[in-house]
Amino acid sequence: MFLFWEHGMDYVPASGLRYLFIDFNAFFAAAAQHDEPDLMGRPVVITPHKSEYSGAIAASYEARPFGITRGTRIREARELCPDLVVRPARHDRYVGLHKQLMSAIGTVLPVDKVYSIDEAAFRLGRREREREAALAVAEEVKEIITKRVGPAFRSSIGLAQTRLLGKLAAGMNKPDGLTVLEASDLPGKLLGLPLSKIPGVGGGIEKRLAQNGVTDFRGLWDLAPKHARAIWHSVQGERFWYALHGYEVAEPPTKTMMFGHSRVLTSGYRSPDKARAVARALLLKAAARLRMAGLLATRLSLNMKRAPDGVSDVEVGFEASRDSTRFLDALNELWRHASESLDAKNQGMELSHVSVFLHGLMAPDDPRAVQGDLFACAGRAEERAEKGRLWEVIDQLNRDADGRLARLAAPPGKGAKRRMGSTLPRHVMLADQQAIDLDYLGTKIAFSRVPKEEEFLC
Ligand SMILES: [Mg+2]
Repeated sequence: MFLFWEHGMDYVPASGLRYLFIDFNAFFAAAAQHDEPDLMGRPVVITPHKSEYSGAIAASYEARPFGITRGTRIREARELCPDLVVRPARHDRYVGLHKQLMSAIGTVLPVDKVYSIDEAAFRLGRREREREAALAVAEEVKEIITKRVGPAFRSSIGLAQTRLLGKLAAGMNKPDGLTVLEASDLPGKLLGLPLSKIPGVGGGIEKRLAQNGVTDFRGLWDLAPKHARAIWHSVQGERFWYALHGYEVAEPPTKTMMFGHSRVLTSGYRSPDKARAVARALLLKAAARLRMAGLLATRLSLNMKRAPDGVSDVEVGFEASRDSTRFLDALNELWRHASESLDAKNQGMELSHVSVFLHGLMAPDDPRAVQGDLFACAGRAEERAEKGRLWEVIDQLNRDADGRLARLAAPPGKGAKRRMGSTLPRHVMLADQQAIDLDYLGTKIAFSRVPKEEEFLC
């Protein structure tokens, strides 16, 4: 057996089928049919608001032959299908039904991970790793759903070595499917799959894959793991590659991790204004490393020491984010509190130390991170994703600049001089950071500076 260690993560080739991934079909519409049995077999759409101009958030499979899908405007849907039943969304009810479904399936298999209100992975036991046994347990899951919750809830089930492959298998057969993806089926059965349909390959990644000559599944499959990591700009790419190839990937225990930096303030950086600019720069560095690791943060803490004595420790929480602008807003709030408690606005006050930490980390597909987005209007979630992508582009520009800076710096005594001006590679930074000497913050806080163990405890 081969084992791969990377940043403390283990990649173990999974033998046999390990996961049952379930995706409920048209879940919100099924919930309406469950609550009003008269609607069974009828075209139903669910609307987020009472407005005729809003898009459907779910369409039952009976509505789909009319060309109605999720996103179709209600007004248009009524024209396409005059018998259409329209029901408003009932979020509390969906959460209740989700819990009922999870506990029903839980009587057959232990839950592994809930991905969203209508998607979850369950662990197969030792005796269920062979094809026939796994299929039998999947049939049992479908029966228990019908028996314990109701026949309205149809699902597509995927059986595979990893959660990712399980999700891909579930997506191959809708509605009411049951699909097995075994090691011997790979990559053959997936070769026709468009890259955009693969969870983990977002628009930005798809573009980068294309820039690297990867435009189809075969190309993706044939990548080297390290190449995937480079394309993703994060270890997430490598994790994705292994999961796609049937390797069980140990989830990093994100709870205990944090990204942050501390600085003892030297003279010239001790005034509250200068110290604040330093704290902001430290936070931007931490946020770049957070994105590099492919994670989101939900908390920010600020520690500030006043010279010669006095300390303030403050913390704030927010929705799961990787957006530096969001973090800077949180820092502003914390800075105000800390300054007040240290009376730092007093004339002549000096600060001796600042540290900022992003923590409460989670993966983007963590149910707690997804939960926040479940009922958020699509526009806001999209806007958040856009901001995350924008910062990724900035990260890349800054990494390129760091690379040029390192090349300019070596060999010592030769080449371009490191001074402000045209020879210094341009970093993308905030306007208030221009007052800070790059040597003070720049390469000294490189990505590799903090021990890897601290970031990827396993
Ligand atoms: Mg679904």
